[in-house]
This record gives sequence, C-alpha cells and structure tokens, in this order.
Amino acid sequence: MIIKELISNLGILITSIFLYTQLTRKSAVNLQSSLKRKLAAGALAGLLSNVLMQYSMSFGSTIIDLRHIPILLVAYYGGPIPAFTAMLLVIGGRFLIGFNISSIFALLLIVSITLSVLLIFRSTWKRRTKIFWALTVSNIIFTVIITFLLNDLRSLPALISVYWSISYAAGFAAFSTVDYLRKNQALMERFKAEATTDGLTGLHNVRKFDQVFNDLCLKAETKQERMALLFIDIDHFKQVNDTYGHNEGDLVLSELSQVLKRTVRSFDIVSRNGGEEFTVILPDCSLSKAKNISERIRQEVEKNTFILSSNEKINVTVSVGLASYRETTSEPKKLLQDADQALYKAKRTGRNKVCTADSLLRAESVIHRHISK
Ligand code: GH3
Ligand code: MG
Ligand code: MG
Repeated sequence: MIIKELISNLGILITSIFLYTQLTRKSAVNLQSSLKRKLAAGALAGLLSNVLMQYSMSFGSTIIDLRHIPILLVAYYGGPIPAFTAMLLVIGGRFLIGFNISSIFALLLIVSITLSVLLIFRSTWKRRTKIFWALTVSNIIFTVIITFLLNDLRSLPALISVYWSISYAAGFAAFSTVDYLRKNQALMERFKAEATTDGLTGLHNVRKFDQVFNDLCLKAETKQERMALLFIDIDHFKQVNDTYGHNEGDLVLSELSQVLKRTVRSFDIVSRNGGEEFTVILPDCSLSKAKNISERIRQEVEKNTFILSSNEKINVTVSVGLASYRETTSEPKKLLQDADQALYKAKRTGRNKVCTADSLLRAESVIHRHISK
C-alpha cells in the first residue's frame, strides 16, 4: 500500500517540478531574483507541500509525507525568502487540517527543518554534499519529533527506516530532476542562440539574416516602405591573413563588427554572411540616407586602428555595395542580387568605396531607349 502511495507522491512531486521549470524557463528563481519572483516561487512551493500533505502515506498509526522537499528545493535555489514563504504556507495549511498537539509538533518540525537547511545551503560544500546533509538533518529532525509523538515506540525502527528511505529517494529525485531540466533548458537556449548567431563576432549569422531579410521584405512590400541593403567586403583581406595569420585576421573581423554596430542606426541589422562579408539591412530608409550611412561606414573603417594581439596596429578598408527597394530595385528580394552587383562594381573600380545599384529611373530609361531603337 505504501508503495502505491509513494508512487503517487513522487508523481505529484516530479510533475510539479516539471511544470514549474517549464513555466519559469526564462526566469528560474535564484539568489539574485527579485523579491516578487522569490515570493512567487515560495508560494508555489508552499502550495505543493500542502498538496503533498493531502496525499500523505499511512504507515501503521502514523502518516508520513514529503512536505519538506519543496521547501528544501526553494531554500536551495532561492534562499531564505521563498523558503520562509513556503514554510508559512505549510504551517497555515497544517493548522487548517486541525489544531492539536501533533499540529504543534508539525510546526516545530517544519520551522526547524527550514532553518537548518538554510544554514546548510549557506555553506561552501559541494552541491551533492549540501543536499545530502539537508536531507539527513531533515530526517533526524523528523525522527526526534516523531519519537515524542509516538505512543508505541516499538514501531519506531520500521517507521524510521521507511521514512528515511522515502525522504532520501524523493529528495535526490527532486533535486536531480530540477538539475536535469535546467541543464537541458540551458543547452537548448545555447543551441538556439548558436543557430542564429555568428560565433566569432556575435552578429546574426547568414541563417538569421535570411529569416530577418525575408520578414522585412514582406513588411516593406505590404506597407510600401523603403528599405536598403548593404553588402560589405573587406579589401584584400587575404593579405591580412597571409601577413599576420588567421587568428589575427579573426581579431580584425570581430573588431570590424564593432565598428559596423556602432556606426549604423540602433535598429539596423548587421550580419556576418560568411568569411569577411557583412551585410546591413536598413529598414525604412531612403536611398540618400542609405548612401550617407554607407559612406560613414567606409570612413569609420578606414580611420579605425585595428590592434592585433601582438599590439601591432593595422588599417583595413571595405568596399560597400548598396541597393534600395523602391529607388534602385523594384522587388525587395532583388536587393540581394543588386547589392552584390554594386559591391562587385566597387571592387572592380578601385575598392575602399561605396557603389550604388543602378537607379530604377536609369534602368527604365535604358530599357526605354533600347525598345525605341
Ligand atoms: P578583395 O578585396 O577582392 O575582397 O580581396 P580579398 O583578399 O579580401 O578577397 P578573397 O575573396 O580573395 O579572400 C577572402 C579571404 O578571407 C580569404 C580567407 O583567407 C579570408 N577569410 C574568410 N573567412 C575567414 C575567417 O573566418 N577568418 C579569417 N581570418 N579569414 C577568413
Ligand atoms: Mg569576399
Ligand atoms: Mg574581400
């Protein structure tokens, strides 16, 4: 019978932990959390302890439960505030069940467990040691109190061995579950970030660029908003690598990304699309403004001193190809091809310069002349 009850208790405990960690994926409670978050975590832990009290397991004439485990969890992760909140809710819940000698002992039990585990968790021991001692001390406190409460001490050894085993099993299961879920969530967040971020510069990578570019194209087309795209490529970058080595080249790339970030407007999107090629998407931007920004980028890069790890200072330049939706390009998606062609022109005609895709007006007049010939 106790096995059946134990399984339902563990089920409630683990399911609640699972739901709680899922719901607080982005804001796990810790010692630095806000007061509000700590109080909320404590309230939920207190609620869970009360539920566990309702599902208590009968052993002979005594009932045992896992009410201390949620308190241990919030005490470990969130410190005194959530622990005391949960403790007060457990005391309140217990008095609602009935006010008698055993509820006074229950109060003593939960207060002493809370205080002692808070002390243990303040130590500098390893995580496992802290959890082991928190559970052990909780079990000792339970043993002392139940000894006072039991009329017939003959059942004590059996009760104690069952309680200690259940408490250790549930405690370690609860802490391992939180740890496992939090680690998985952190990994998931890291993979998500890595899937869209360029590892070297922290800029968007080409995958994220594609996604943002497509979204902004759709927005520009439906709202008939202007939008510009810059293709930026470092001039003679191979020489930097050949002269100073690949690692120094990487330093230049990451410093260049900073120059780009600080030169564009706060809402422009800078990406590293591969190798030494960068792009900037300029949402809601006229051609003349985009030309200004491009020229500013070119000049900022030219005058920036790139400091290598050997403290050697070097300068690099960039070529920029610019295309603008509605002023040089009739379809937003064509910005890619047109900015690329403009960049090619900048490279061909001397580098360290900004070239703009042919304006639509000129392109149209060329077609017109061609047709009328
Ligand atoms: P251009 O002015 O015509 O652009 O000349 P370039 O030398 O910059 O162009 P090219 O395409 O010939 O060479 C690009 C170089 O960029 C080749 C490669 O060594 C370097 N490169 C590409 N990706 C990386 C990277 O991640 N790190 C470093 N350090 N170098 C890279
Ligand atoms: Mg290149
Ligand atoms: Mg280059």
